[in-house]
Amino acid sequence: MKGQIFLHPIWYTLLTEEHKTMALFAKGIPFSKKVMTPKLDPIDTPLPKRVILPLKQYIGEPSQPVVTKGDKVTTGQLIAAAPTDTSLPLYATIAGTVKDITDYNDYKGTPTPSIIIEGDGTDTWIEPPTKKEEKEISSYAPTEIVKRIHAAGLITTQLVPVPLATDLVPIDQPKTHLIGGQRITKKIDTLVITALDREPFLGVNRYLAGIHNKELADGIAALKMITGALYIRFVVDAHYPPATQLKDLVAADEEETTTLISLNGRRFPIGLAIPVIKAALGREVPLPYGHPRDVGVALYDMTTAIAVGKAVSTQLPQVDSLITVGGGAMPKGGIVTVRIGTPIGDVIESLGGFSTPPAKIIIGGPMTGMAHYDLTTPITKETDGLFALTHDEIQLSGDYRQCINCGLCVKVCPVNLLPGVLSLYCAKDRFDMAEADGLFQCIECGCCDYVCPSRRPMVHLFRHAKHQLMAP
Ligand code: SF4
Ligand code: SF4
Repeated sequence: MKGQIFLHPIWYTLLTEEHKTMALFAKGIPFSKKVMTPKLDPIDTPLPKRVILPLKQYIGEPSQPVVTKGDKVTTGQLIAAAPTDTSLPLYATIAGTVKDITDYNDYKGTPTPSIIIEGDGTDTWIEPPTKKEEKEISSYAPTEIVKRIHAAGLITTQLVPVPLATDLVPIDQPKTHLIGGQRITKKIDTLVITALDREPFLGVNRYLAGIHNKELADGIAALKMITGALYIRFVVDAHYPPATQLKDLVAADEEETTTLISLNGRRFPIGLAIPVIKAALGREVPLPYGHPRDVGVALYDMTTAIAVGKAVSTQLPQVDSLITVGGGAMPKGGIVTVRIGTPIGDVIESLGGFSTPPAKIIIGGPMTGMAHYDLTTPITKETDGLFALTHDEIQLSGDYRQCINCGLCVKVCPVNLLPGVLSLYCAKDRFDMAEADGLFQCIECGCCDYVCPSRRPMVHLFRHAKHQLMAP
């Protein structure tokens, strides 16, 4: 198949983990220092005094409020229903009173209708959490599992943030794709569960791979049933052994269809969906509009697999998230448990406040996240990181220079674009020419920005150009 790379097994086994990664994924940037070290136990943040819950925390239709201003709510109570398959139900993440339903800037800075709850400090649940069902996952019908995943409000962020149930359902209904000029109907053969984070600076998935989590096996079994995958591949970071529970799952598979693949998680952007599939399986997802299912793959991270296990066995909604907090302006960082909807300022305050005035606050990771100046912006289901960076840790934009044609951006681009040329088109508003030269193949990893000696803000220009081209 076009784009598939085969390595002879004999010489493949002789390679180091770094060389294995490089053999299939030679682009990107190696980060040997300052990467997240997810060894710490998660830090619990106190219950927030208020939460801001956008009615849309994914790409799709917004949910519809079923509460009004002044209503009393309890944790886990449904506050907005999902009228369509592309929307998700929304639940109160603290107990208290609905203070308002109004537009609020989400993490992209887009005004989004949101429900604001003023907490009463009790964390009273709508009803006591149900006891875990002691049923084998195989005893559920796949449709029941998908129903529970949707009811829990889970999303996947592997390509773009979408409701997980809508990402899974088309897997059950294979489509025909045009790949390499041929029409191919591709069924899922491989389920990839990745313990790599989207950036080396983020650490939640690597942390989860290193601990025992009773819901993980259930989640993986459920995803395997729904996708119909024959093989399971666990992708782990070679720098963070041991992934004991994953090794146990591999050993327990008598049919030997489950294997562990170690990659160099410090080579950014290997943790993004398209590079990880290439590095782990040697398969190339067709760009610009391809999906892992186009090459027979269902890809989810550890966080998602565990959330699926919890949703199926407890039927509780997702009310909190694990995120990575870091940056030189924070007195302490690490893996932090936070209620969804908590303003980022409250998270920072609960960790001791800024140790020095930050030059930039980023929601997400330093390479692919979004800069913010409003500390009331809420943590949402899409949030996986929060960084407060000092002047020494950032390149201030606004002082960029002309391209000097050094070619460094071309060398690192994981999808083989000419970022310098694209940025020139975008800066001159020649969006049509940028599109013709592959703008939409850009996965917005930020490698080109990072290496550019002229400090050209290329990802910013690309996002602006895409926005302009997609505007109605
Ligand atoms: S052009 Fe896009 S994909 Fe290529 S390095 Fe830049 S941000 Fe990454
Ligand atoms: S890295 Fe910067 S200066 Fe070098 S070719 Fe690319 S855009 Fe131009």
